[in-house]
Amino acid sequence: MSKVVKFGGSSLASAEQFEKVGAIIRAEEERRYVVPSAPGKRFKEDTKVTDMLYGCYAIAEDGKDFKKELNAIKDRYNEIIAGLKLELSLEKEFEVIEKNFKKKAGSNYAASRGEYLNGIIMANYLGYDFIDAAEVIFFDENGDFDADKTNEVLSKRLEKSPKAVVPGFYGALPDGTVKTFSRGGSDVTGSIVAKAAKADIYENWTDVSGFLIADPRIINNPKGIEVITYKELRELSYMGAGVLHEDAIFPVRQEGIPINIRNTNAPADNGTWIVGSTCQKSKYTITGIAGKKGFCSINIEKDMMNSEVGFGRKVLQAFEENGISFEHVPSGIDTMTVFVHQDEFMHKEQKVVAGINRLAKPDAIEIESDLALIAVVGRGMKNARGTAGRIFSALAHVNVNVRMIDQGSSEQNIIIGVANSDFENAIRAIYDIFVETQI
Ligand code: ASP
Repeated sequence: MSKVVKFGGSSLASAEQFEKVGAIIRAEEERRYVVPSAPGKRFKEDTKVTDMLYGCYAIAEDGKDFKKELNAIKDRYNEIIAGLKLELSLEKEFEVIEKNFKKKAGSNYAASRGEYLNGIIMANYLGYDFIDAAEVIFFDENGDFDADKTNEVLSKRLEKSPKAVVPGFYGALPDGTVKTFSRGGSDVTGSIVAKAAKADIYENWTDVSGFLIADPRIINNPKGIEVITYKELRELSYMGAGVLHEDAIFPVRQEGIPINIRNTNAPADNGTWIVGSTCQKSKYTITGIAGKKGFCSINIEKDMMNSEVGFGRKVLQAFEENGISFEHVPSGIDTMTVFVHQDEFMHKEQKVVAGINRLAKPDAIEIESDLALIAVVGRGMKNARGTAGRIFSALAHVNVNVRMIDQGSSEQNIIIGVANSDFENAIRAIYDIFVETQI
């Protein structure tokens, strides 16, 4: 049995946090592969080392003196090394980094040093091997993650090291240049390592005890989610962003490896399990509610639209030509509505409208703005009667006007469109009816 354990920045922000992490890893022999982030914030107003590195490199790129900024980064690491009483010096590493900054090695390289240095400290602290991610995680010439090559090289490398640290967030392009994933990308590295190690579990340790049913900024003290499927989590992707990188589920999902989100500061909590499928019923009919404000709807009308072959394609082509992805497309007999992100659509609005007119020749186009979408998600919905009815009566009860309804074909989600101004009220009403008033 083996586990891959990934620790986020706040779990590794100080020597004190490192000690908690050390205790977690030592508590179970199976925690064999460790993926660290760079040191994060120690307190609310603190700066993450990744951001310090971006800032420092921007100065270097301008050809200005960046000594002070680099020293501040060095201090962060030295504080951890001293606190852990390690016999380790990163002086040589910092000399190389300084040289490469002067040579303008790129902001990806700069940012990646946060994880790289933290990985060296972690390996030294645990007595594990250190594997530089640039030697085992690969991107192709277009900059896309190369899953096959990575899995081949990384799995062979891991076979040689029964216990190792692989820093998160970066890999290398075919010419060896360092490239990072998008922000929060150490989650993705953890998933890639879990796949290559054929791990039984991917534990993702952060500073919260897993996912919550709803956003705690809207619901006071919401209940946690014990088990969620990958599919449900995708449907709730508006919500997961802060806890787990969106791309992190794909490598492990293919292998059927579950992810367990855990809290470094409350290690006894079970956290949330993300699984392929489960016979465990969720406690409530719904697993979670998530939503986002700032959508526009483009309502397109044309008589006999339902019998015109290719009408939908023509409409969507107008969006595609302008590089706009759509969020939802509910349709009626003679109408079709396309929901898009307002901030993306705003600048291209007239071009898209012209495109629809040219390609699909509709009778009318109407645009509405300032809409919010709310996803109510749950594997339990399929077999529960009256779920939609409960949602809509709860919304009617608090005077929220429903502008759009879309039940996903998996029957695991219902998407509701409301005015931006009704967003919070709607979420509260739905949470109350399913979680507080459990009938
Ligand atoms: N350190 C990187 C960031 O702040 C990557 C990560 O933590 O996952 O985005």
